[in-house]
Amino acid sequence: MSEQVDAVVIGAGVVGLACAYELSQRLDSVVVLEREVGPGREISSRNSGVVHAGIYYPDDSLKTKLCIEGNRRLYQWCETHEVPHKHTGKLIVATSAQDEQRLRAIARHAKDVGAGELRLMTGSEATQQEPELRCALALHSPTSGVVDVHEFIASLVHEIKEADGTVVYHTAVDEIRRSRDGWVVQTTDTTGSRMELEARRVINAAGLSALDVAASSGLPEAERPWRLYPCKGSYFALGAGAPPTRNSLIYPLPEGGGLGVHITADITGARRAGPDAEFIDTIEYSVDESRLERFAEAVARYLPAIRPEHLTPDYSGIRPKLVGPGGGFADFVIANPASQPGFVHLIGIESPGLTAALAIGAHVSNVIG
Ligand SMILES: Cc1cc2nc3c(=O)[nH]c(=O)nc-3n(C[C@H](O)[C@H](O)[C@H](O)COP(=O)(O)OP(=O)(O)OC[C@H]3O[C@@H](n4cnc5c(N)ncnc54)[C@H](O)[C@@H]3O)c2cc1C
Repeated sequence: MSEQVDAVVIGAGVVGLACAYELSQRLDSVVVLEREVGPGREISSRNSGVVHAGIYYPDDSLKTKLCIEGNRRLYQWCETHEVPHKHTGKLIVATSAQDEQRLRAIARHAKDVGAGELRLMTGSEATQQEPELRCALALHSPTSGVVDVHEFIASLVHEIKEADGTVVYHTAVDEIRRSRDGWVVQTTDTTGSRMELEARRVINAAGLSALDVAASSGLPEAERPWRLYPCKGSYFALGAGAPPTRNSLIYPLPEGGGLGVHITADITGARRAGPDAEFIDTIEYSVDESRLERFAEAVARYLPAIRPEHLTPDYSGIRPKLVGPGGGFADFVIANPASQPGFVHLIGIESPGLTAALAIGAHVSNVIG
């Protein structure tokens, strides 16, 4: 007979952990199953660590709603759980007349959707604040910031365990089938040993593998119309010799499926350029050195003193995108199919998934009942 639990969450990235945290506050037995050796080894530890304000997405989208709510919840969580974070603010810069129009439209939109306080600055005002910067117009977002992602993940695991939840590593979910009262989740651990758990609720938070998990749950093909297009984002570190910057977050305008090659300084002050956006067929994380010149050029459009010799290859992350090259906007999918009571699939949780994680957790907990 399989062990019975109230909820199983598949995947111990920030999103799965945030769902498990929320459920563990009201259910007796919540189990997170993770195939890796520890939490957050895939998308969640391979990102920019930026707390976004919710500036860019359509007003009626889950991305806007959950990012704005997640921003507030994340800062509050960081205060309560002593997770290192900084309210750094962020500058978005326009370097041409055409970009200027786009940035003004972004500013109007961000105001309309309620993405925190915002202030437009002329190019010379921006240069006073950031001497190496060259731009025609800048938008300052004070509610953007940075968080120590590893500490955030560790705090989620800690709180789940405090609420008597369980996080199991080295354990991959192979198959899920219907039972009388819910779902039987079948797993294999790294020693090849198999286990079954029976749960009333199952949350598929498997990130890049979420479609495989959806297929292995028996969800009919007609009810899973999604396709994922893995999109790599590489980072190059800015060496100590690179020109200084005062602002932690300097972004150009979004382009090519990403937010544009931006400069971030993480919680330790280490600076990076990236990520770019490269659609790939195979999941692998090497950083292609030949992209270095392109990175330097992209950054030099707004920080002209940056040269290729200031950059060295760092790391990369992969976005689970729901649209391919030139595909436009795709929202988060949080699906609770009628044919699968008690099951929620989280598909395409790319940026701003880190910011939105706690709000996604609360939303999923409401949806799943
Ligand atoms: C380059 C890049 C930059 C980003 N920058 C930001 C940013 O600055 N701010 C922001 O808000 N967001 C950012 N994001 C988005 C954010 O990182 C993601 O939305 C978020 O981390 C997704 O978390 P997740 O839990 O859904 O996925 P993951 O962290 O990938 O977790 C999924 C987990 O499921 C496990 N798993 C998969 N299949 C199985 C299985 N069958 N059995 C058991 N376990 C399984 C995996 O091992 C993995 O640990 C960025 C993303 C990328 C790629």
